[in-house]
Amino acid sequence: MKLTRLTAVAGIFAVSVSLAACGSSEKTSEQAAAPGDSAGALVGVTMPTKSSERWIHDGDNIKLALEKAGYKVDLQYAENDIPTQVNQIENQITKGVKLLVIASIDGTALTTQLQEAADKKIPVISYDRLIRNSPSVDYYATFDNFKVGVEQATSLVEGLGTGPGPFNIELFAGSPDDNNSPFFFNGAMSVLQPLIDSGKLVVKSGQKDFATAAILRWDPATAQQRMENLITSSYGGGAKVSGVLSPYDGLSIGILSALKSSGYGTAGQPYPIVTGQDAEVASVKSIIAGEQYSTVFKDTRLLAAVTAKMADTVLKGGKPEVNNEKDYDNGKKVVPSYLLQPVILGKSNYQKELIDSGYYTADQLK
Ligand code: BGC
Repeated sequence: MKLTRLTAVAGIFAVSVSLAACGSSEKTSEQAAAPGDSAGALVGVTMPTKSSERWIHDGDNIKLALEKAGYKVDLQYAENDIPTQVNQIENQITKGVKLLVIASIDGTALTTQLQEAADKKIPVISYDRLIRNSPSVDYYATFDNFKVGVEQATSLVEGLGTGPGPFNIELFAGSPDDNNSPFFFNGAMSVLQPLIDSGKLVVKSGQKDFATAAILRWDPATAQQRMENLITSSYGGGAKVSGVLSPYDGLSIGILSALKSSGYGTAGQPYPIVTGQDAEVASVKSIIAGEQYSTVFKDTRLLAAVTAKMADTVLKGGKPEVNNEKDYDNGKKVVPSYLLQPVILGKSNYQKELIDSGYYTADQLK
């Protein structure tokens, strides 16, 4: 089913409002005919880490939406430790959850637990990150991940300006075990590669492939270290970094620190154009201060609402709405997906997107 962004968003809001206002009392005839009674069922939600704000928003928003719909929620965070997440999911299955929502750490590490869930007829919704190598993933709710990369690269090129170049850039990618990371990188390279080929952009280190650019577990300190190494190895003799493709705000902070230690961030030597993702408070403040150039805002309120609606529909025996049934092959099946649209965010639109929309208060960004 094809939906415009507007109708999709309107639909989601209608759902969150109806979930919020009416709990599960508004049953369609299809739902009323559903087998079993899901009222008050326990739903297991696992998130990767609290070390990044976005996942805290995601967890809080899903919990709230599901509770308003009358479900009980077991919400767990695993601090980016794979065995911890595996245990949490196993415990949730033992506790008798009727549905699992999982934002995985390593998208390939959950095959056994998902088989166990399938054996017990527990549906699984992959949240934001696709779980790989398992046939037991029923639905996927996320943002258009390729588009995220396109937006990041487009803003990098915009920030570099209209001059002829050549501009020196460096490339960073996300965690190699996160299925989103190659989507972000490939989306970005669809914009950057032609400009690299034409000579307008130069990756001075020569490190252009995903595997070399990838930062395990999205760790800011690893990104900082890699940026320091790149500066030392490739930017001697007065050469300057003009732009850095960074796929996540946490990495951008590490990258900016490395640049600062090497003398960037002054009037004479301003920071290069650095991108990001997630509109985390520290990075939005950095954008306002003229340090980081842009970020990608993914409204976790919408993703939580879509997911809660999916869960509610599945638990009532219905078929949730999806808008993509071709792009997310997890190695075992193409998982029916609902993709939301990311928004590129910079100095000119943070007020409208973040403050006017109530995502943050003006005080939080001071
Ligand atoms: C998410 C991004 C996030 C990154 C690091 C990805 O899977 O889609 O929004 O920046 O993980 O947490």
